[in-house]
Formats: sequence, C-alpha cells, structure tokens
Amino acid sequence: MNILIAASEAVPFAKTGGLADVCGAIPKALANLGHDVTLILPAYRCTKKFPTEPTGITFSVWIQGRELKGTYRQCRLPDSHVPVYLVEHDLFFDREGLYNQNNEDYGDNCERFVFFCYAVMEAIRLLDLKTDILHVNDWQTGLIPALWTLRYRDYAEYERIATMMTIHNMAYQGSFPAEAMSLTGLHWKYFNWLQMEFYDRLNLLKTGIVFADAITTVSPSYAREIQYNGGFGLEGVLRNRSDVLWGIANGIDTGEWNPQTDVHIPAHYSVENVHEGKLACKTALQQALGLPVHPDVPMVGFVGRLHEQKGVDLAVELIHRKAGNEEIQWVLLGSGDPNLEYSLRMLAAQYPHRVSVSIAYSNTMAHQIIAASDIFLMPSRFEPCGLTQLYSLRYGTIPVVHATGGLLDTVTDMTEETLLNHSATGIRFETPNLEGITWAMDRAIGTYRYNSSAWTQMMKTGMQTDSSWEQSAQKYVEIYQKIQRKVPAKLS
Ligand code: ADP
Repeated sequence: MNILIAASEAVPFAKTGGLADVCGAIPKALANLGHDVTLILPAYRCTKKFPTEPTGITFSVWIQGRELKGTYRQCRLPDSHVPVYLVEHDLFFDREGLYNQNNEDYGDNCERFVFFCYAVMEAIRLLDLKTDILHVNDWQTGLIPALWTLRYRDYAEYERIATMMTIHNMAYQGSFPAEAMSLTGLHWKYFNWLQMEFYDRLNLLKTGIVFADAITTVSPSYAREIQYNGGFGLEGVLRNRSDVLWGIANGIDTGEWNPQTDVHIPAHYSVENVHEGKLACKTALQQALGLPVHPDVPMVGFVGRLHEQKGVDLAVELIHRKAGNEEIQWVLLGSGDPNLEYSLRMLAAQYPHRVSVSIAYSNTMAHQIIAASDIFLMPSRFEPCGLTQLYSLRYGTIPVVHATGGLLDTVTDMTEETLLNHSATGIRFETPNLEGITWAMDRAIGTYRYNSSAWTQMMKTGMQTDSSWEQSAQKYVEIYQKIQRKVPAKLS
C-alpha cells in the first residue's frame, strides 16, 4: 500500500512528546512490512539543522483572500528509505517553539495548521505522491479528512484515497473561536454540531473524527475510555463512530531504548546480568547527582512533562509523605507547569540527600534515570498510551502506574496469580489520590526489600516483553486494509 503520514512532529526532526516518537517510528515499521510510506511535516526552525534538499516545487494556499506560498524540501527518515517532505513557510514555521513560546500558544496556530493541511493535500498532486491511505495525527492535521471529503475527492489523484486519523491525546483538540471557520476555506454550513463546531467553537480534532474513514487511538483501553468519560466532551462524537474506532498500543524504538547497546548509559546489561548492570548505572547516577552512593536504597525515577495529566502533584504529595522518614531516593526529570516545577524544587531543597530534581528536557538523562532506577513512577490521571513505562520494562525498572489507558494495557499488576504464571511486570493502583499511590509504592518498596525473587522475576519478565513497533504496525495495516477504497469515491 502507499501510505502518506502527515504529522505536526516526528523524531528526530521535531518533538514535544510521544506523538513525535510514534510518527518517527511507525513509518519505518510500515516500510519494513513492505509498504511505501512517505512522511510530511512542517519545516520548523529545529528541522533546519538536518540536511535536506529543495524539491523546486512551490504551492499556494489561499486563506481569507490572501495567497500564501510555500515550498517542499525533502530528505529521508534516518536509518531508512522513507521519504520525508518538509513544508516550508518561514513566516509560520521558522520559530523557536512548535506550538508555543514561554508556555503561551501562538495566536495564529489555527492558521498555521490550516495552511499545513492544505500543503499536505497539494503535495499529493504536485509531488505526485501515490496515496492509498492518508494517515493523519491529532488536531493539527484534523482538517485533512474534511478537505478530502469536501474539496479534493473528485479529482483523479485523490479519488482512491482513504483517510485515517490517530488520536494521541484527547486533551488537545485545536479549539478556536468560531471566526476561525473562515480560515478553513470550507463553507460555513459545515460549522454545525454534527461536523466542525463544538460549543460555538471550531474544533479541528472533532472535524477529523467526523470526516475520517477510520479512527485509531494509542491503546485499547484509551479507545474505550474516551467514549465514556475520558473524551474531554467528545465522548458522544466518538461513540457515534465506534464502528470505525480502534485502539492500537504504541511500540517503542528498540534500537534507541536497548540496555545492551544504549549510548547514554555507563554500563550495558541484559537479563543475564541485569543486577550488576543496573547497579553500575545507579552508582554512576548517584555520584552524578550528588546523592549518597548506596547500592541498597531503592531509587524511584520519574521522567515526563510536568503537567496535571501526569499526576506530578500526587508524586509531590507522596514524596512529602515519605522523604522525611524512609530511605528512598527520588530522581525526577521534567519541565512544564511553573507551579509544579516550583514544588519539585522545594522538595529537592528540603531533602537534598533523598530527592534530586532536574528541571530540564534531556534525552541522555532520561535514559540514565530509566536505567538506574529500581522503580519508575507514572501516576498519570489519564494516559493514552505512555512510552516511559515501556522503556522502563525494557530496562528492568519496575513501573508503578495508575491503572488507566495504555498503562493498564501494558503493565501487568503483581498478584499471587500473575506471579505464579510469570506475567507480572509491575504494580498498578486504581485510585489516583494520595492513598492509592502510597499503597502502590508501599507494595513496590516492600517487594523490592523483602521478596527479591518476585522482584527479579518481574524485572526479567518486563525485559522480555515485546514492545517493538512491528506488531503495532501490523495492526495498522489491518485497519488500512479495511478502509482501502477498491473503487474511486464520487462526490455525493
Ligand atoms: P506524552 O506524549 O504525554 O508527553 P509519553 O510517555 O507518550 O508522554 O511520551 C513522552 C516522551 O517524551 C518520552 O519519550 C519521554 O522520555 C520524553 N520526555 C518527556 N519529558 C522529558 C524530559 N524532561 N527529558 C527527556 N525526555 C522527556
């Protein structure tokens, strides 16, 4: 199949979160299954350090009566033959951040991504991209299925295309004041509660959900949750489309996240020497962070966006409760909400021998924390899939997670039964409050200290879990096949 993937970020070119990891990995996994895959992204400032070539092709988009011109640059996704096109329009994309600066969204985000959506549609014709499946991601590309349905599908280059939308997080919907409808170039009659409007605002995520031929989200549990109480208001819209809504768990880049070859960590290890390897990583991190060097003190890691979604406030409460009286080392890395950053800094100041906080974005440090920690804490209030718990499993680091979304699907709770049948890989808690998280952490610390055979068994089971992209890619292909158009679409 010919698959065109449109996204607002993909590693290594541009990343703010898991969306980028997925959009960088899935094209390669699909290509490995024998499909022709092309990726298209905006040419942000951060993409300019990658070697690219001009295609010499320019395009025009008309927005509110103004002609905006752009060009496409081209390169390949590293370590693959996957062609990548970067949509260049410096006024919109040559900026410091992808969507915001100093925590404030750019005021023209709607216009920027409407422009990008048209650029993708035009690329199909101008760059002659043979396309069976047009796979779009999140609100930034949510207009594309509507453009196909309402503008493009009658033309020969487009008539066979089927569209699929993947939702990576329902919390971000691309919701703009009603006037933004005129940026889309589509008739105002589509600004209604069944199509593009949501409570008097233009909603680009809803637009994608309504118009796409298929919808996926990034784990089976999240696919269920968003239809009932986790849909941020779009539950009914999603239930309406439940016949074409699927959940497919993300995989991880097993090349980058491999404790046997990881270039960021001081010692390599596998299931055979996991204890020695992790101890070397833990000792090095304790030294680097100025924590007491102690092999037996349990180390709990956290890496992620400092946001209410991630339950960071729960982690802060937990650490307050524990750090004064229990020998546990807490190592946290993240950035985001200034209030949470402040709370974490205060914790580190109060308990310098037990809490280390790095307010930063550092991939190297993320690798080092995940390798060194005994326990990885993920108290997310909701979690569409989550990647760091999958990395942790691979590194023999036991995840302690709130039982929601992808965390529920990928971490098997430690029970008598799951220990007996060797499927246990971590510890889950049901209620995202201080009691819930404390109960889970006590179970984890207790097992670490007093039941080392169960602990080692869980480490090894986790390390042997297959989280590669191959199986997820196979599931995407099955859905592509379901929606593939055998006969050209005709405008009704
Ligand atoms: P989300 O997409 O909601 O932020 P995910 O768990 O799906 O959460 O993906 C987050 C990705 O971003 C992971 O690859 C994680 O390692 C990375 N990440 C998040 N915060 C940081 C940070 N401060 N430093 C390094 N990597 C980070």
